[in-house]
Amino acid sequence: MGDLRFDGRVAVVTGAGAGLGKSYALLFASRGAKVVVNDLGGGRHGDGSSSKAADAVVDEIRRNGGTAVADYNSVVDGEKIVKTALDNFGRIDILVNNAGILRDKSFARISDQDWDLVHAVHLKGSFKTTQAAFPVFKKQGYGRIVMTSSNSGLYGNFGQANYSAAKLGLVGLTNTIAIEGAKNNIHCNVIVPTAASRLTEDILPPDLFAELKPELIAPVVAYLCHESCPENGAVIESAAGWAGKCQIIRANGSLLRTKITDGVSVENVRDNWQQVTSMTGAEILASIQDATGALMTSLDNLRSGD
Ligand code: NAD
Repeated sequence: MGDLRFDGRVAVVTGAGAGLGKSYALLFASRGAKVVVNDLGGGRHGDGSSSKAADAVVDEIRRNGGTAVADYNSVVDGEKIVKTALDNFGRIDILVNNAGILRDKSFARISDQDWDLVHAVHLKGSFKTTQAAFPVFKKQGYGRIVMTSSNSGLYGNFGQANYSAAKLGLVGLTNTIAIEGAKNNIHCNVIVPTAASRLTEDILPPDLFAELKPELIAPVVAYLCHESCPENGAVIESAAGWAGKCQIIRANGSLLRTKITDGVSVENVRDNWQQVTSMTGAEILASIQDATGALMTSLDNLRSGD
């Protein structure tokens, strides 16, 4: 099997002026893609802006013989970023929604502004940019999208309620885009990275920080964006040269009543709680149809008195 290349493809990476996005942009360019290096160039809390970060990455790509242009728009104006790709390269094939900020506070202290800014960049920014690219992807019958979630979203993390909510929101967004895009060969997946960057420099212990190079995650994102990758709607966690898929599993649960004509009391719930929450034999439900099917089976069992 030959090398995986992106010749003829145009990749947009948001927040590509630093950290993970920078390593994605460098890798795409080194494999032949034309790259839009988007970065607002602001601070880690969403303050300020500068063209320096994106320009430096574009310069590095060009020095290495690759093709790239800088884009300084905020992802909140996602349509402008997609326009940069179309104006400069005439197409867009790959979109990595990576731009991010943090405004960490314990839940009780989160202000409306802390909530809104984090949601604007992560969730609305990914929505706007993807929605602008989507009709182009549809028309050409091809598109690869990667959203960026976080373990804080999947599992929660003290001080990151705003960020956790936005990051898990991106999994929901992906679930539906993956369904709506499938028939046009548009794949949408989620990366859950852990990497050394300015967002994690004061969170991760120094010895771990040194091991968590963004370049060890970039190949996972690149593969998800390659035409040969069949994955769609997946959540892939990756760090330190490891990657693994995450899925939601559901307990077999328990019927809370014995006859279809019975109601359910609070005591019924208490008495069945162990079975409701037992994860023995838990299942992956791949679709909403699977979830509804499982519900129908429970109702059938109740009707037949099983
Ligand atoms: P980083 O701060 O190094 O890079 C993020 C980049 O996004 C910055 O260059 C910043 O200028 C840019 N940016 C911020 N707001 C923007 C906006 N509105 N429009 C355009 N660009 C904007 O951080 P990173 O660690 O490389 O994070 C990249 C992504 O990965 C983020 O979405 C982050 O939440 C996510 N993430 C990172 C980790 C980790 O361990 N580093 C863990 C989980 C999730």
